[in-house]
Amino acid sequence: GRSVHQIQSGQVISDGLCSAVKELVENSIDAHATSIEVKFKNHGLELIEITDNGDGITPDNFDKLALKHYTSKLRTYEDLERVTTYGFRGEALSSLCALSNLFVTTATAGVAPKGTKIEFHTSGVLKSTSVMSHPRGTTVSVETLFKNLPVRKQELERNIKREFARVVSFLQAYAIVCVGVKFTVYNHPPNGKKTLLFSTKANKTTKENIANVFGAKALANLIPLDLDFEMTASNSILNRNRDDTRKVKIIGHISRPVVGEGRQAPDRQLFFVNSRPCNLPQVARAINEVYKSYNLTQSPFVFADLQLDTTAYDVNVSPDKRTILLHDQANLLESLKVSLTELFDNSEQ
Ligand code: ADP
Ligand code: MG
Repeated sequence: GRSVHQIQSGQVISDGLCSAVKELVENSIDAHATSIEVKFKNHGLELIEITDNGDGITPDNFDKLALKHYTSKLRTYEDLERVTTYGFRGEALSSLCALSNLFVTTATAGVAPKGTKIEFHTSGVLKSTSVMSHPRGTTVSVETLFKNLPVRKQELERNIKREFARVVSFLQAYAIVCVGVKFTVYNHPPNGKKTLLFSTKANKTTKENIANVFGAKALANLIPLDLDFEMTASNSILNRNRDDTRKVKIIGHISRPVVGEGRQAPDRQLFFVNSRPCNLPQVARAINEVYKSYNLTQSPFVFADLQLDTTAYDVNVSPDKRTILLHDQANLLESLKVSLTELFDNSEQ
């Protein structure tokens, strides 16, 4: 029979392929990786494998890694409120373990290239370790995602094209925002050769990352976004009598409205909150409205990182942590539109 754990794990990895990849990439970033290689076999249906050159895992953690609620990252209650590392629930490896064949191969600086391959039981309990050569860092291999949830597996297979496109666009978002981290992403289709989907160098700027991911042409007409505004938290009863202005900073790049320019791909709108990729349809809509006011039908290329105080939004309201509720949203969007119009007007040639 199917255990409660397997069903709950299906909820943590709620978004199929995308959640799994997000969790693993975030773990690599948490481990201070400067190089992250993502390899898919058959678009991830057969294998998702992420190799990083991060800190690696020390032997005293081998038996805990895939246990539910194990995390090496959470220290105090305060941390829960002000999450600075991407992972803070200790459920990703445990969930993936319940839903796939999970292997972890790792080596810390002290032992590399003598690494350890770790295998787990479905429950997350350590099954075995063996010596396996590995440079400093960690490789996490996820074989046959949803192997024991046939309905979820069929659903993933049915939607694999769309799901895979979403994963790639998420990885592109990370590759652009993570300055100083080299990303390499491959897919190995069942009847073809391993193909490189995109790669970045360990660039110093997000602009160079954009050129690596989308090609140098993507830089045409890009202007820097660097918006600053202060907002008063008008709708908060609790904070009404306090000095309560919040600073909002939006940084990134956006394409200038130019009449007669070719259509920008609407999928090239990447949003982040404090450098975490997020879906922010409300922000996208506001930006596209400003763009439309220049009588343009296309939507702009946008790479926008909203740098907000951690009290200015809620994450983790959904199991996969990606739903973001912005406090004072109406104010924020209004300020954004005004600043963006100013920016465009000042950048006209
Ligand atoms: P969380 O990230 O919330 O702590 P996870 O289930 O994602 O929980 O990971 C469990 C633990 O495994 C992490 O706390 C970390 O100690 C370790 N870990 C996972 N992936 C890596 C990695 N790529 N490099 C180093 N340590 C890792
Ligand atoms: Mg994690």
